[in-house]
Amino acid sequence: MATIEIGSAVSRAGVRVDGMLKVADLPDGQPMQIPVTIVQGPADGPVLWLHGCVHGNEYCGAYIIQAFLRGLDPQALRGTVVALPFLNLTASQRNQRMSPFEGYNVGDLNRCFPGKADGGLTDQIGHVVWTHLKRHATHLVDFHTALTADTHWSLVAGHAGKVREHGLAMARAFGYSPCLPTPTDMLAGSAMMAAGAAGIPALIIEAGGIGPAFTPETVREGADRLRNVARQVGVLAEKVVDHGRLTLVSSFAWCKSAHGGLFKPAVCCGQPVKKGGVIGTFFDTHGEKVADERAPATGVVLAINPGPLLPQGDILVHIGLEPRLETAATE
Ligand SMILES: [Zn+2]
Repeated sequence: MATIEIGSAVSRAGVRVDGMLKVADLPDGQPMQIPVTIVQGPADGPVLWLHGCVHGNEYCGAYIIQAFLRGLDPQALRGTVVALPFLNLTASQRNQRMSPFEGYNVGDLNRCFPGKADGGLTDQIGHVVWTHLKRHATHLVDFHTALTADTHWSLVAGHAGKVREHGLAMARAFGYSPCLPTPTDMLAGSAMMAAGAAGIPALIIEAGGIGPAFTPETVREGADRLRNVARQVGVLAEKVVDHGRLTLVSSFAWCKSAHGGLFKPAVCCGQPVKKGGVIGTFFDTHGEKVADERAPATGVVLAINPGPLLPQGDILVHIGLEPRLETAATE
């Protein structure tokens, strides 16, 4: 068995090990460390890499990863599960998207992969994580959230060949629909696209909303769905549950508000919308209707801003374009 060493977590066949990985120095000179769990089976096999909280306040994925890990019997694995549920831990501690210690750089960790050893703080975190991910991972699942608890969709690295094909198989095993096979000119700097470019099939799960906006049910069934991905990639020798065909989207559009005020959405995640259809209504602070907001494109709602008070120009709805049901589970 190949030993996997990530920070103080050193794999051992047939057991779970927990440790910490130093990703940078804190302002007081102490190590900035993030938690790592490695669960290695008795036999060689794939290395399923899981991480969450790339954006610090997107906690739902960390809960899903931990619930999944609690259900794993190390003796039953073929290969290894590597999990880093809090990649951007200092951001998570402050319930914010980016690290409070990031300086003049933008610091969006999902735009910093594969990282830079001599870059800003978040570039350096990306570099440390990527070095291990690239060395060990055969498959990646990266958890994010949108704004509301009903967010359930996925993206896969769309690099032609096995990356796209295996990514879509993982997306089917998780079973959220819709799914975006992400074109190679989109989402540069995400861990998913960096992995895809390196030949590692990669899946982003968008599950639940930011902060506490997610449900115990999403966590429970998310852990079940993740277990199904582990079956699909071959880490678990169990029958893969068929969640049916995916609804593939070709790209997405953001709908920005033409007004400000109290926003009442008229659509929810997963709902089809037509160009020009009403997606919500703005009211002023006296309660008078200001205007309806209309969809800029036809598609399916991937994410919605619940408001309640929004400035002009805020993102209202995220629409997946050209949704179509797969003709067969082989696309
Ligand atoms: Zn995110």
